[in-house]
Amino acid sequence: MSLFMVDFYQAPKEEIKRSADIVELIGQYVQLKKAGLNHVGLCPFHGDNDPSFTVSQGKQIFHCFGCKKGGDIFTFWMEYHKVSYPQTIKELAEKYHVALPEKKVTQGKRRKLDNREEIYRINGAAAAYYNYILLKIAKGRKGIEYFEKRSVGPEIINRFKLGYAPQDWDGLTRFLSDRNVSLEKAEKAGLLSPKKNGGYFDRFRERVMFPIFTMEGKVAGFGGRVLDKSMPKYLNTPETSVFHKGELLYGLNTAFPHIRETGRVVIVEGYTDVLALNKHGFSAVVATLGTALTQNHLRKLKGFSREIIVVFDADSAGKNAAVRSLPLFLNEGLSAKVMILPEGDDPDTFMNNRGLDAFLSHLDRAIPLYDFYIDSKLASVKPGLTGKVEILKEIIPVLSEITSDIQRSVYIKHLSERCDVSETVILSELNRIRGTASGRGSFSGLESVQNGAGVKSLKEYHLLNLVIHSPGIAGKVLLDDFKVLISTNEVVKIFNILVEEYRLKKCIDPAQILENMQEGEEREIFNGLMLSEPIYKGPAIEQAVLEFENRIKDIKLANSI
Ligand SMILES: [Zn+2]
Repeated sequence: MSLFMVDFYQAPKEEIKRSADIVELIGQYVQLKKAGLNHVGLCPFHGDNDPSFTVSQGKQIFHCFGCKKGGDIFTFWMEYHKVSYPQTIKELAEKYHVALPEKKVTQGKRRKLDNREEIYRINGAAAAYYNYILLKIAKGRKGIEYFEKRSVGPEIINRFKLGYAPQDWDGLTRFLSDRNVSLEKAEKAGLLSPKKNGGYFDRFRERVMFPIFTMEGKVAGFGGRVLDKSMPKYLNTPETSVFHKGELLYGLNTAFPHIRETGRVVIVEGYTDVLALNKHGFSAVVATLGTALTQNHLRKLKGFSREIIVVFDADSAGKNAAVRSLPLFLNEGLSAKVMILPEGDDPDTFMNNRGLDAFLSHLDRAIPLYDFYIDSKLASVKPGLTGKVEILKEIIPVLSEITSDIQRSVYIKHLSERCDVSETVILSELNRIRGTASGRGSFSGLESVQNGAGVKSLKEYHLLNLVIHSPGIAGKVLLDDFKVLISTNEVVKIFNILVEEYRLKKCIDPAQILENMQEGEEREIFNGLMLSEPIYKGPAIEQAVLEFENRIKDIKLANSI
């Protein structure tokens, strides 16, 4: 934009800024936690597991220390929703009830109208058409019968704008053409296919139609299901400029407020499972579009859900998919759980037979995905040492995919407890795998316990995690003696800050310390530690202090010999 060009939206922008608060706005999409003067959360723009996304209420800006994205509310909206600048102003103006100046749209500008917006608009018209056929036209009877068989009534049909694509080859084509919609654009939206000799025909025919909405309620595409046994059972919109299977989740627009309210989201296998749970009064539910979960899906969800529960039928092949998705969850720093339905049940029959309360109490008892993964590995293994080596061979490579050191150390500790194998052994094997890609085949860690360099820094983080999450024991560990346990540069620096703080005040307040820290690597690590899960809880805290003390004695003894 040239210096002399006046931003057409200057006045409404100022007004939006006065009405909006960045913490409140971003807080709707990213779970923010107060940390000193700022709010922090997991960045929605990159694979973030130590909260590096910072929002400043005072300055009304955000910044990510990981991927370096940053800006004001307008930048956030544009990046997060992937919309143009004018569209951002339009949507925020609507949200905050700010009037926009009338703008004369010239022929040329109309042509430039955001191509994506136009595709959404055409999809919206198509959804209205399919819904109209389903509800008002005799041809839609077959669709109604399909939904009636599944006890999907008018309320759910309306909530999800369900529809029916009739057998006609040109039903939608004519509908759009009558409304002066460019058929070329409708093809780009994935609704029509070109005929060999010119012209177009309907892509979806004789299918019940599930419009797939963006979080803002725009129609990005469709899933169409056949009524008989013909193939493919589900036909989706092909990839278009607005339809990306690896990013969209079915039901997210209706689920969104419920997920935000409860902090919990349930992922089911299919569109009809989403309908079934909604029908029975459970709305915080989404489904993937017939694909495996991706990092992008999780990034969409993690902003406002603390907990993700994946629901499977007992006989489902999806269980394997859940196990395979473990590293994704681990890498996004998300707590994932698994709920397996009783043999023979799907979400609908389960709800029919047992009701919502039973479903909710099953959800409460869902098993962490990580434990489910280890359990399913342990269940298939022979007893004894050879058996252990076998599972470790499978599990350790999965752990090696976790990028965060802090996260990884937590899981190593769990694995060590579950398999009764020392952390040192697991870590040395892990280091071996990470060091050499070709080293995956053989396993040597159990026989030769090496004192890997990483073992030390792992414990160092444990020590910081301990004192930051249990400041009450500060007096027992923030002592010069404990310095022999640490050597990693950043850890030493952070430890020294803590020791100094305790010396001055006889107590530590981690939030206060973070606030006073200068920006840099230590601050980022400290920030990450504060938001990481405590490794030691309850009686394990005292136990850990004892363990650290014993190690100090050992080291001193070794040094004196
Ligand atoms: Zn980021």
